[in-house]
Amino acid sequence: MTADRNITIIGGGLAGALLATLLAQRGWSVDVYERRGDPRVEGYAGGRSINLALAERGLHALRQAGADGEVLKQAVMMRGRFVHPLHGEPGLQRYGRDDSEVIWSINRGELNIVLLDIAESHGARLHFDHRLDRVDFIDRIAHFKRHEDDIARPFHALVGADGAGSTQRAEMAKVQPLGERTEWLDHGYKELEIPPALDGDFRIEPNALHIWPRGHYMCIALPNDERTFTVTLFMPHKGEYPSFEQVQDGDAAQALFQRDFPDTLPLIPELRQDFDANPVGSLATLYLDRWHLDGRAVLIGDAAHAMVPFHGQGMNCAFEDCVALAEHIERAPSLAEAFAAFEAQRKPDAEAIQQMALENYIEMRDKVDNADYLLQRQLELALQERHPGRFIPHYSMVSFMRIPYSLALRRSKIQHEVLVEATRGLDSLDGVDWQVVDAAVLARLEPL
Ligand code: FAD
Repeated sequence: MTADRNITIIGGGLAGALLATLLAQRGWSVDVYERRGDPRVEGYAGGRSINLALAERGLHALRQAGADGEVLKQAVMMRGRFVHPLHGEPGLQRYGRDDSEVIWSINRGELNIVLLDIAESHGARLHFDHRLDRVDFIDRIAHFKRHEDDIARPFHALVGADGAGSTQRAEMAKVQPLGERTEWLDHGYKELEIPPALDGDFRIEPNALHIWPRGHYMCIALPNDERTFTVTLFMPHKGEYPSFEQVQDGDAAQALFQRDFPDTLPLIPELRQDFDANPVGSLATLYLDRWHLDGRAVLIGDAAHAMVPFHGQGMNCAFEDCVALAEHIERAPSLAEAFAAFEAQRKPDAEAIQQMALENYIEMRDKVDNADYLLQRQLELALQERHPGRFIPHYSMVSFMRIPYSLALRRSKIQHEVLVEATRGLDSLDGVDWQVVDAAVLARLEPL
């Protein structure tokens, strides 16, 4: 193997571990440096969100790495949103047409371990407890901290998969400005837990992503394979009640849940303790003008384009990055060309899903129990039947297909206009003028 088929990956999280496999499978010599200890030895030590929604984009990438079987063994199927209005009956809104169109809840730590095992089995060298500290891009030397020691390692090219707070990104910016901009969301989150029932079973419907929409705030719950649910409360940091500024401790949380989420109280016996013990997480969207430094360095996943979690696509998008980057590296005559082509392909798509993720927060917290939204959703499904391959619901384009996110965004905007126009002033599909709607679909949407 020639020296220039060496790649050094910073970060052995989700994207780093998957990319290591995809490159090692193609015959590259891969070193992965991860700041944490080996989770297979020390237990998984990190990350706030305990479980993640895996959709087709991520699953496709896992198939490329031969990791899908092992990952799905530990996953819980989610057929749709199970919406719990404050007043009225809770119920399931399916995401797709049937069980071939579902998403999966997976444990972040278990997923990371599966990916590290596979990377290692393909020959990638994993270096734990190595925190990237600084990079000399002239002599191509990466400096790591390992406990108290300083370690210097030469590299040929660096892939930054070191997450939203990327050190590699900061080091690259010292050589060439990347045009970095972070937009913080004025809402944060807190995690809580629904334990198993006394008989060991799930306490609520397991095969769904539960949502308690409450206007400008909400709770969601995703199932775990050990029959618990991770509940996440999203609400503003500051401002009118409720916000984290006003709801600061377990007692205040108990009062909020009593008022706004009363059906969850018997499900979360440790609400006070969880609320006091767990930190308030912050959420942001990260935009960069440039993701790479000629052939020396490139960024992927959250390091390049962190996003808010409301479409459940951050990891899915990071996994799509891995497949795209591995293909460009394999095809292009040089790494500089591969990194440039990767950035040109993926940046518009990352920006599209960042935008859709922000928009989806409003949909989840404010619209899923609203009559206009539900009517539009009914029409969306009807138009999917009438125009297969042409009118495809927004959620399906993002979660069950692999068309570029930017194309999904463009088509979703048109479809939304058609839906709003066709249902204006109606309270059922009976009054829909099908001739007009069909004509709009045929005129405005090319078949996919
Ligand atoms: P990370 O997973 O953050 O991995 C980065 C790795 O780099 C870590 O292992 C870290 O220890 C290591 N590292 C950091 N700095 C250094 C350093 N200096 N030196 C060496 N190593 C370093 N996405 C979904 O697809 N579905 C979801 O349902 C979903 N839910 C989410 C819920 C919440 C509350 C949040 C916050 C995010 C959610 N996401 C979801 C997004 C998802 O978590 C991220 O997009 C994904 O983890 C990105 O993977 P990554 O490998 O780029 O970064």
